Amino acid sequence: MAKVGFIGVGVMGREMVINLLKAGHEVRVFDTHLAAAEALVAHGAVVAKSAGDAVRDADVGITMLPDTPQVEAAILGPDGVLSSPPAGGVFVEMSTISPQATRAMSAALAERGVSMLDGPVSGGPLGATNATLSIMVGGDEQALAKAMPVLSAMGKTIVHMGESGAGQVTKLCNQLVVGINLQGVCEALALGRAAGIDLEKLRDALLGGSASSWMMQNLAPKIIAKDPAAGFRIDLMLKDLRLTGELAFALGVPLPGNALVTNLFLEARAHGEGGNGNQALYRAYDRLTNQE
Ligand code: NAD
Repeated sequence: MAKVGFIGVGVMGREMVINLLKAGHEVRVFDTHLAAAEALVAHGAVVAKSAGDAVRDADVGITMLPDTPQVEAAILGPDGVLSSPPAGGVFVEMSTISPQATRAMSAALAERGVSMLDGPVSGGPLGATNATLSIMVGGDEQALAKAMPVLSAMGKTIVHMGESGAGQVTKLCNQLVVGINLQGVCEALALGRAAGIDLEKLRDALLGGSASSWMMQNLAPKIIAKDPAAGFRIDLMLKDLRLTGELAFALGVPLPGNALVTNLFLEARAHGEGGNGNQALYRAYDRLTNQE
């Protein structure tokens, strides 16, 4: 069993920590929102004073934070991971952040003798709770072998994608499919509703054929029930689509689908939906079809 230092225990991190504890690992948690960390004491976690304090004595350090600036603060900032690196020499950055910033932080940690893996996840809060996340890994294969007992307590599909940053690039490809697929589901349900079709039956019929998807399975029921609650917030979705667009721009790859769905999410955020779940994209279609 490993000692794990875990930084960022929000929607995803909390469930991931509970699964680490259930698997018998020792976990020290740090979160700038103290109550989020303290809520895990009842599950067996110990609360640390800083990011550095959480990982200092750990075999494996982990971050699960909103975006690149928060990860940079936790790793490079005062009392951060770089100032007291994990004793076991392995760090897994599991948030969805910039691949370029990932490579820079990996190089900085390598100078302190720490192998940093990028290991962003897909599967949402349900996947986090059920320990069935898909984990897309970039970085050193030997470090992955060391981290594997820890990662396998949180995820089911763990794929080594290549060197540092390759996990994040894979996650951005994932988000491109997630965003465009969700748009397709919202659009089909808006059309069916306008035509007077029963939406439950529409979903059942589509689930049985080639229009089936994770979105149709898991988010269409929320869309039909008009339930916009997060889940995976639109603010985070927009962050991912921005990172996807930046990567595509840097590589000179046109992504018209990414541009379209980004603008639909921006419309939703402009209507105050940033804190809602990404399925609240249906509300953009409510507005477009005058069905609010
Ligand atoms: P969240 O906002 O619920 O949790 C983030 C936590 O980090 C919060 O508790 C916050 O207080 C804490 N935090 C912020 N800055 C900090 C800092 N500098 N030091 C320590 N703690 C800090 O976010 P989430 O939904 O758990 O997502 C985390 C990451 O996982 C994001 O990059 C997101 O894109 C990705 N992700 C989320 C989902 C999902 O469905 N929610 C699915 C896959 C991937």
